[in-house]
Amino acid sequence: MGIRTVEEYKESLRDGRRVYIRGEKVEDITKHRILGITCDTIAAGYELTASKDPEVRDLFVAPHPETGEPINRYFITPGSKKDLADRTRMIQHSIQLIGGLPFGKDIGTDCLNAAFVVAGQMGKKQYQDNAKKFLEHLRKNDLHTCGAVTCVKGDRSKEPSKQKHPDYYLHVVDKNKEGIIVKGAKIHITSAPAANEILVVPTRQMRENEADYAVSFAIPANTQGVTFICRSGRGAWSDHEFHADRPVRELTEAMIVFDNVFVPWERVFMCGEWQFSMLLAYTFATFHRFTAISYKVPAVEVMAGCAVAMAKYNGLERVGHIRDKLADIAAYVETLRALANAAANDPVMHGNIAVPNPLIANMAKLHFASKYHNFVELIQDISGGIVATSPDKKDLENPDIHDYLEHYLGGAEKYSTLDRLKMVHETMRHICSHESAFHEVTTVHAEGSMAAQKMMIYAESPLKRYETLAMAAAGITPQ
Ligand SMILES: Cc1cc2nc3c(=O)[nH]c(=O)nc-3n(C[C@H](O)[C@H](O)[C@H](O)COP(=O)(O)OP(=O)(O)OC[C@H]3O[C@@H](n4cnc5c(N)ncnc54)[C@H](O)[C@@H]3O)c2cc1C
Repeated sequence: MGIRTVEEYKESLRDGRRVYIRGEKVEDITKHRILGITCDTIAAGYELTASKDPEVRDLFVAPHPETGEPINRYFITPGSKKDLADRTRMIQHSIQLIGGLPFGKDIGTDCLNAAFVVAGQMGKKQYQDNAKKFLEHLRKNDLHTCGAVTCVKGDRSKEPSKQKHPDYYLHVVDKNKEGIIVKGAKIHITSAPAANEILVVPTRQMRENEADYAVSFAIPANTQGVTFICRSGRGAWSDHEFHADRPVRELTEAMIVFDNVFVPWERVFMCGEWQFSMLLAYTFATFHRFTAISYKVPAVEVMAGCAVAMAKYNGLERVGHIRDKLADIAAYVETLRALANAAANDPVMHGNIAVPNPLIANMAKLHFASKYHNFVELIQDISGGIVATSPDKKDLENPDIHDYLEHYLGGAEKYSTLDRLKMVHETMRHICSHESAFHEVTTVHAEGSMAAQKMMIYAESPLKRYETLAMAAAGITPQ
């Protein structure tokens, strides 16, 4: 098959999966008010691979490395800096072309690429073969994936084996000739209810007495014992909003419960090799933070554009402190872009797999997360209180009050009141809305907390070199 159509993707979701949202079980998620938007957002990725425009198609479709058949570019295991740069370009164009990212294949393949690296380090041919066979399954059937890494974790100060009950971290409860049985729950998993396959990776380093928690595998979303409990969402555009002529793009996160789920051996990539759990979590994090910084560049470009436009609509673009703030906004965006490019340009090779530079990928994610709220504050400052109190589209359309709004809500003379209000509403979505609050938390936590990035920066930085240089500068002879 190689490349699926939108309809084939949607049909594949009608497979008896167990999905709950807002307390209700959903029979057909493609038709649900909120989950349908998730399906459509992912389906937009299938529209891109079917594009008649060869330039667009080439971004998203690549030749299979061995057979030359067309496959989704996410299923190219990166082997060079060009592959990493192509992946970044694909992710960035997804956002620009469809107004959102059909997340899932990215994080799923981040998990699988990490599993490949670690299987190689373990020297376990069986796991390498399993990963390769699974990759071919994804390529052939053009499947949508999600990456389930974050466990529910219980008391954060306690290790998995010291928790009140053993299930706060996903673990193996039994094994037999055919496979393993796992129990636990993964949380916050993006696009999970609309995935075909779930890839599981340990959330952290495991110790010797936690070998049962060192487990990685892939299973279909309709596997017996798997339940998705989804967060709610914003739903389609309301007729009170000004918005562009495109659908809402949104993805639903879910908690995935694994209630004694059977996984056949051929789908297992790690089972008990606790010594390698850290490497798997760490390599996944590097791949995934690289994915993150790739998609965040076009997202913050639009937000920066709102600040530029609001400054103009308010007649302020020549004012000194506004220019100063726009310079800070641009520096934030361009530092992120430069770091994303640098992480792709300087990969670390593990065999024939190119892992994005771990130091730079973590620095980029930390830059993005630690300065995001300040970036938002600058846009809020420039935009004015109108982004909190603006009348809506229905107000403007009401003839009783239209003329008041037209008369009083104009800004700089050369712009229409309507355009100013459209820009206010776009800006509002990014900096003063339920969605923007969601993104502020996502920025801090998704792809790992800032403490996790600092741990990796500390581990990867040339601290010894700094010290040697300081010793030499101070005239101290090393002992
Ligand atoms: C919108 C969104 C989408 C996401 N998508 C995915 C996804 O697709 N797949 C996936 O696997 N995950 C996903 N995540 C999960 C994300 O990776 C986690 O939120 C993140 O790793 C933080 O974990 P947590 O939420 O459990 O927070 P916590 O672990 O509770 O962290 C809270 C704070 O406690 C600190 N902390 C926690 N434990 C310790 C400790 N032992 N010692 C010291 N400090 C500690 C953290 O550093 C942080 O400062 C997503 C999250 C969000 C918000």
